[in-house]
Amino acid sequence: MEFIDLKSQYKAYKDEFDPAIAQVISDAAFIGGAEVNAFEEELASYIGVEHCITCGNGTEALQLIYMAYGIGSGDAVFCPDMTFIASIEPAAMLGATPVFVDIDPVSYNLDPAALEKRICEVKEAGKLVPKAVVAVDFLGNPAAYDELSAICKKHGLLLIEDGAQGTGGIYKGRKLGSLGDIAATSFFPSKPLGCYGDGGAVFTNDEGIAELIRSIKVHGKGSSKYDNVRIGMNSRLDNLQAAVLRVKLAHLDEEMERRQEVAKAYDAALRDVISVPFVEPDCRSAYAQYILLAKDSAEREMVMAAMNDASVPSLIYYPKCLHAMKAFKACNDESYPVAEDYAARNFGLPFSAFLCEEDIERVCSVVCNAID
Ligand SMILES: *Cc1c(COP(=O)(O)O)cnc(C)c1O
Repeated sequence: MEFIDLKSQYKAYKDEFDPAIAQVISDAAFIGGAEVNAFEEELASYIGVEHCITCGNGTEALQLIYMAYGIGSGDAVFCPDMTFIASIEPAAMLGATPVFVDIDPVSYNLDPAALEKRICEVKEAGKLVPKAVVAVDFLGNPAAYDELSAICKKHGLLLIEDGAQGTGGIYKGRKLGSLGDIAATSFFPSKPLGCYGDGGAVFTNDEGIAELIRSIKVHGKGSSKYDNVRIGMNSRLDNLQAAVLRVKLAHLDEEMERRQEVAKAYDAALRDVISVPFVEPDCRSAYAQYILLAKDSAEREMVMAAMNDASVPSLIYYPKCLHAMKAFKACNDESYPVAEDYAARNFGLPFSAFLCEEDIERVCSVVCNAID
């Protein structure tokens, strides 16, 4: 059994992947051009935004956003304490100060009340200028955008959506990637919409910011890439990846439907013995991961050992809070009890649109037997 079954996905769409990949190679059109442009248009339309700007990976998508808004030294950027480092790393690299915020114990997403408290504390201290909030669709589950937008408006902050885990998810009728002022995603192979290497994208409805990001991602180009008007970077999605992504995008909604079924089956079999994921009724999680919370680390260890003995893969996602990372030791002045508790108890089950009923049953029986 695979943790994320990319092999079955390839087999299912092989008849579409193989000619699409062969076409790019026979055209020898690897960088820029038709595939990337078509993919950007198709994805913008799927997400429901004006502009989709592809780039090298999800981390660079976030870096492009931080650069486009001029975030840097003296700025505070608020970030959930439980996420992948890439949500905030580019802001820190540009000189901004990460301010970590605890998560909600039910959704595991940024806790709006804790966020507002941290914003007020930073304002009161007067050393940093609060600039932006990066909300993460953690595990594919939408962050609380109504509440977060209201807080950002009230305090004059930019709301960035880190939708790297959320492509295909829905928040109250809107696709993830279209929430906040601007959004980033990643096409890392294991993400809900993944390519066969690295890739990422920025989503925005702001024409001026879109143009700025299209310049920054090509060495700060002006009228051409040999006329440079600012210091930028080199960040691009290639045509082979775009060809793969176009095939997968066409199947994304049917995969999302299947992911909901798999999650429902897991929920039903497990909710009486262990804490299962919570998704708001008017939202759809992309289920980048299906995460359970054991009652304590000892129980987690026991269940994961039983899974390992039964050759059922599992994963802790993530084992450590950002504030506890050595890389952020200058910023770890607060306590984050909810994020720490999550880190101590979480573990993920095999999950993909290609998980069969038999495997779902086997996973559930291994987990249930380990707990009883
Ligand atoms: C994967 C991920 C990223 C970074 O994406 P890469 O393509 O690996 O650079 C950023 N944020 C979150 C929440 C992620 O899960």
